[in-house]
Amino acid sequence: PSVYGFEIYDKPDVSYSDIGGLNKQIEEIREAVELPLLKPKLFEEVGIEPPKGVLLYGPPGTGKTLLAKAVANQTKATFIRVVGSEFVQKYIGEGARLVREVFQLAKEKAPSIIFIDELDAIAARRTSSDTSGDREVQRTLMQLLSEMDGFDNRGDVKIVGATNRIDILDPAILRPGRFDRIIEVPLPNYEGRVQIFKIHTRKMKLADDVDFRELAEMTEGASGADIKAIATEAGMFAIRNEKTIVSREDFIKAIEKIMKKDKKLPEIKG
Ligand code: ATP
Repeated sequence: PSVYGFEIYDKPDVSYSDIGGLNKQIEEIREAVELPLLKPKLFEEVGIEPPKGVLLYGPPGTGKTLLAKAVANQTKATFIRVVGSEFVQKYIGEGARLVREVFQLAKEKAPSIIFIDELDAIAARRTSSDTSGDREVQRTLMQLLSEMDGFDNRGDVKIVGATNRIDILDPAILRPGRFDRIIEVPLPNYEGRVQIFKIHTRKMKLADDVDFRELAEMTEGASGADIKAIATEAGMFAIRNEKTIVSREDFIKAIEKIMKKDKKLPEIKG
């Protein structure tokens, strides 16, 4: 479901067990987002304000969206996803209004989580140039900051931002009471890749020669999204050979194909 630039899911179907290799990050987001939504009294009793917003940063395809969806699912919160770049590209002159509407909707549908993907597109540090596009981005950012400052953070609206470019963010966005928890979501290490291979082959029939440890060793530098693509591609190789059981060889061909494609892409997107 998509209204203007945002999508609403009443309850995403992602759970923590669908996320590989991010145990520490899951723990952190549960503490910062899930706990205040489920046990607001706890924070009142202790006399502290719960975090309002969490920023997830790291390379593309590492599970930032998955984390946000899983925490929404766990809390039964409404999940509202907006994409920073779409705000300012598609709706010139409307960015600020859309921000206002998203927050309004989040309050109506509370408990809710606003997930802002590609946050850098609306929250990049100011540069010296002053084109009308930049001013539009500025207005959108100002509206976002004022919405974040304006709502009561004992309330049941939480904001999760995501970016691949934390280095270019305006420091104003990271101040206390805004995105005040910062969680790095890196590329998976060896153990993480083993787990992610397991997750994305759950529904596949695998030949006995498939060894996740070997596949993980061969895919250093791959993201979770790459591993998902490898599993799909391995399945495609099996289908082309008229098999329904996927073998080691299918995976190796898939790894070659996906890892090669990956290298041709530029290092940083956005
Ligand atoms: P982007 O910055 O490009 O928006 P992202 O970090 O939000 O990327 P996701 O959208 O969460 O990435 O991941 C894309 C897909 O890759 C997911 O739907 C999932 O299938 C797979 N994936 C990524 N990371 C993981 C992970 N840690 N465990 C399992 N699957 C993963």
